Amino acid sequence: MEIHKSEGVVLHALKYGDYDQILTVFTREEGLIKLIVKGAYRNQKKATSTAPLTQAEFIYAKRQSTLFLCQEKSVINYHLGLRESLERLEGACALVKSLTATQVELKPAHLVYELLICYMERLSQAQAKQVQNLVSSFQLKLLRHEGLFGLTPHCKQCNEDLVNHYIVQGENFCKEHKPDQGISLTAFEAQAVFTLAFSRSLPLIEESVMDLGLKEKIDWLFESLLG
Ligand SMILES: [Zn+2]
Repeated sequence: MEIHKSEGVVLHALKYGDYDQILTVFTREEGLIKLIVKGAYRNQKKATSTAPLTQAEFIYAKRQSTLFLCQEKSVINYHLGLRESLERLEGACALVKSLTATQVELKPAHLVYELLICYMERLSQAQAKQVQNLVSSFQLKLLRHEGLFGLTPHCKQCNEDLVNHYIVQGENFCKEHKPDQGISLTAFEAQAVFTLAFSRSLPLIEESVMDLGLKEKIDWLFESLLG
């Protein structure tokens, strides 16, 4: 059996049989992996040390199946701040959901891992009104990472400068050339989306103007591009 070591964040924890636990972990080194922790429930402390959203270092043995055998884990950060308010916890769950929708098993994505840690840390201290900005920004950055989203100042077809953006399959069109589906962004919304998707400044992202209409448009973009 090959022994590996990876740092990762627990996305899901599932009780298996009477005592074992199966973890879905997003790791820096290998992307999504599944680990079985034998006897996790024989000792309550051991089971709680791998609650979802825990960041830890895992040592595991690879076997023939893709369910690897966890041998050791040491917690780096429980990210307890995420559990201090319902808004933060819901935000963290949305990050997890977005990750599981975009990442595949055993495909390393170092940049996405760094992005996750950065957003989890920021979310741990976020005020309620900043949570949705961070979640929408994370979703847009994931789409960018997968090459599924761009925001261009010109219509793809006629090259005219865009005021309102009609976005279809990650491409931008003017009103005249927009295909049937897609969403429209006003100039004001496009500016907010630009900040959320491209800015490296988390304070700027948190302050960006976000309303329910824009949140729904970004959710729609995210779901339609992955569906
Ligand atoms: Zn056009």
